[in-house]
This record gives sequence, structure tokens and C-alpha cells, in this order.
Amino acid sequence: MIKDITESVLEEWLDNVRPYAYDGQVANYIPALSRSNPEDLAVAIHYLDGDAVEAGETEVRFTLQSISKVISLALALMDNGESYVFDRVGMEPTGDPFHSIYRLEQVPSKPLNPMINAGALAVTNMIHGDTPDEKVGRLLSFIHDLTDDHSIGYNEEVATSEFESAFLNRSLLFYMKQHQIVTGSVEETLDAYTKQCAIEVNVCQLARIGALLANGGKDIHSGRRIIPKHLARICKTFMVTCGMYDASGSFAIKVGIPAKSGVSGSVLASLNEFGGIAVYGPSLDEKGNSVVGLRLLEILSNRYDLSIF
Ligand code: GLN
Repeated sequence: MIKDITESVLEEWLDNVRPYAYDGQVANYIPALSRSNPEDLAVAIHYLDGDAVEAGETEVRFTLQSISKVISLALALMDNGESYVFDRVGMEPTGDPFHSIYRLEQVPSKPLNPMINAGALAVTNMIHGDTPDEKVGRLLSFIHDLTDDHSIGYNEEVATSEFESAFLNRSLLFYMKQHQIVTGSVEETLDAYTKQCAIEVNVCQLARIGALLANGGKDIHSGRRIIPKHLARICKTFMVTCGMYDASGSFAIKVGIPAKSGVSGSVLASLNEFGGIAVYGPSLDEKGNSVVGLRLLEILSNRYDLSIF
């Protein structure tokens, strides 16, 4: 295992990518996210033997946004089993933006994968729980198990800000309700989804989730199994094929590490036999991926020849 990445190496890489901090734009379609500071850059690596290294603004907490889709998928699969979930959500990449409605209209009229908004909304709808708060409560305790950190909660302001402005996600849900892909109340599913997306972590907590996935679903410190191995594999496979939205192909070529990004500007990466990597840099490129996150992972992958391909 490569373990010669020290804190000063990470600091140096952050300095290399700092000039790109203003290359993109922070997300503004969720009003509360538009106040993020593009200069808040952070990175953490959690190795499989339990050691961790970090640099930058590691105390800054950010919301998971689309990264939560990997975690909600794992929980929905554990709740319902593979056939129930994949009868309603497909396994194929779309090549379309994450919030696109376009392919829902094509046969079969179900979302193509769980990493785009339509698929993720359907997945949240499947998580067991009678109320949105019960679903979110279960998701939070799952994240507490994944990170061994019970302090993690969701940011109420970000959740409300998204809930009040999520007209596109509402329309995806109404469309799927018409086609019996989701059940129950659209508003309640959206409530659970926006709270799920607003779950707040820092890079160290996120890197630990990446390490757990790299470890086949077992916590690396206690050895406790949190996700069945085959489900951890399914999550990592979706991260490769759909994790970076419609930039997943170029990311696979340039970086080649299973990864999932979110519009808060964070990226979760998980590499078998290595560990978890988390990067934060809120400025986004036109596809919604962190500009600094992509550059930093590219440096890391090239320096240490980490591509799985
Ligand atoms: N909460 C965001 C949304 O549904 C998540 C999208 C993202 O991170 N790409 O639009």
C-alpha cells in the first residue's frame, strides 16, 4: 500500500490547485449553497490500515448533496433487496446532466440509474420509514455507523432552501408517481431527499466512508460489517459508471478511481487496497463537478499510478 503521502505533500498539492479555485462557480440553484467560499479547499485520505492524513480547511463542513446517493442506495438495497430496487431504477449511465428529465420518457419509463436525480429520488422513496423524518433518521444512523461519528446531522437551512426551490425534482417525482415508480406523497419524498442531500460532513468523515467501501463494507477500525460486500461492490461500480454525472467517461480516463461528486463541491473516492479519499472545493465546472476536486484527484492518480484500469 502506498503510504508516503504526508500532510506536507497534500499541502503542496492544494497549493498547486489553489489557482483554479475561482475557475468555476459555486452552485447557486440551491440558494443556501451560493454562500460557499471558493477558497475553502480541503483533502483527506483514510488508509485501509486506519491511518489518516489531511490538509487544508478540514474543519469546514459541507453538505453531501449527490454523494448521499451512494449511501441512500446502499440503505435502500439493504432494506428492499436488489430485485425490488432494480425493478424500479436501472443500471446504465445516461450521458445527460444529473437533473435531466429527458430519458424518463423513454421505454422503460424508469430512471436509468440511481446516481441521477430521478433515480436517487426513487431510491429515497424506497428507504423504509413511515415519515420523512423516520427515513432521514435511519439514513443518519446508517451514516453514524459508516463514520463511527454520531455528531453528524443535516443542515436545516440548506434542506429548506432546496425544498422551496426544487421544482425540477418535484416534476421528476410527479412523473415517476404517474408511472408507479414511486409511491406515497411527492412532498414527503422530496422532504426526505432534500434533508438527505443536506447531511453535513467534513473531508475526514467522508474519507472514512470511502475507506469502508474500499474495505468491502467493513469498518476498518472495528472490523464490523456495515454494508454487505456485494452491495459495497454495486455502489463502487455505480461510482465508476455514473458517479461524476455526464463527465464519468473522461474522469475514468483521467483519474480511474471510483468516485462520486456533489454540487456542494465535494468528491468521495474509494479505491480497493488503498482507502478513501475526500476532496472539498466548492467551485464547480459546467457539469457540476468540483474543479479543484477533479484536478487534485488527477494529480494523485497520476503520481501514484492509482487508476483501476
Ligand atoms: N440536492 C441536489 C439536487 O437534487 C443534488 C444534486 C447534485 O449534487 N448533483 O439537485
